[in-house]
Amino acid sequence: MTDRRTFLKSAGLLTAAAALLSPSQIFARAKGGFSSKPNGKKELELEWCPFTAKMKHVFTISNSSRSTTPIVLTRITYDGYVGYGEAAMPPYLGETTNSAIDYLKKARPFLKTFKDPFMIGEIMAEMDAITTNNCAAKASIDIALHDLVGNMIGQPWWKIWGFNPKNCPYNSFTVGLASREEVLEKAKEAAAEGHLIKVKLGRTEEQDKMMINTIREVTDTTICIDANQGWKDKHYALDMINWLATKNVNMIEQPMPKLMLEETGWLTERSPLPIMADEACQRLTDVKKLYGHYSGINIKLMKCTGLHEAREMVSLAQALGMKLMIGCMTETSVAIAAGAQIAPVCEWTDLDGNWLIANDVFHSSTVEDGRIVPSSKPGLGLEMNKGVNLKYAAEE
Ligand code: MG
Repeated sequence: MTDRRTFLKSAGLLTAAAALLSPSQIFARAKGGFSSKPNGKKELELEWCPFTAKMKHVFTISNSSRSTTPIVLTRITYDGYVGYGEAAMPPYLGETTNSAIDYLKKARPFLKTFKDPFMIGEIMAEMDAITTNNCAAKASIDIALHDLVGNMIGQPWWKIWGFNPKNCPYNSFTVGLASREEVLEKAKEAAAEGHLIKVKLGRTEEQDKMMINTIREVTDTTICIDANQGWKDKHYALDMINWLATKNVNMIEQPMPKLMLEETGWLTERSPLPIMADEACQRLTDVKKLYGHYSGINIKLMKCTGLHEAREMVSLAQALGMKLMIGCMTETSVAIAAGAQIAPVCEWTDLDGNWLIANDVFHSSTVEDGRIVPSSKPGLGLEMNKGVNLKYAAEE
């Protein structure tokens, strides 16, 4: 009886506390981000804000260089709560600010037909059916919905899913193709902060080996390789991987073109290092096709339409005994905070997109001793940076 009374008393206190704390408390931390009055209706109100992420350094991979990335930030309000999302669109994905906004304009009225934001699975199925592509734009809705619903529940998603954040692996820091001096400087910086180093290979044998040997002049830190489909011959790829295995490398991402599935399977069978699919893995339906050919998958929210599908990919990969990695684009802390929710169940995390940009708008997850620490705050734990004033609206 005493137990029951204690329970009822504490339950009553919790309800009273919840009534006191939300949504006003959530609004308090979003203050400054609203250009208009927040939506107090039980209606999912979608708005967006085009944004250009300025990179700290020019970023070069095997076929391109750039210094900015187009982004569309999103916001969904409902019953006085708010959730933030993001579509990050590096040029090779084929989405643009205009194509994302066109999609969001189409999605907005469909979203309003849902009266319950907790129906994320059903909502995202409907959002997906609007167009064939627009994966990043779809992810911007999914991420905002997760932030919104997490804020309504009052918990972060890693906790709702039952993941232990202490299991987050060392995060990797990408060293792109650069001059010898820049490679040395970046490798030293990454090693000093306790990160793994991710190296982009896939040029000539001489250039690739020089890159690794240069890094090894300054640090023994574990290296992850991303060949970005650069190796076209399976025997050459195997020779390179055998050489890399002697250099404290622990993973090879997308060594061969994504369409060379059989050859990649041949390579995976013989490789001393796990072979991970990136370009070959976009959506949930790809996972089954890759099984038996790759050791695991690199999940990216901008490719798979967001956290709802990412969570399903995690379960399927786990059931198939495939390894997991969470990656990112050049993106703000909004999408990085979303990816960080999945980090505890991954063997590799490559969530460095927000460090690469000079004008981040929010903060949330952090990196401590080289590992991602997802925020303990509700939803995605997003807090707007001081002085940022984003104009969200339902118009261009
Ligand atoms: Mg990659």
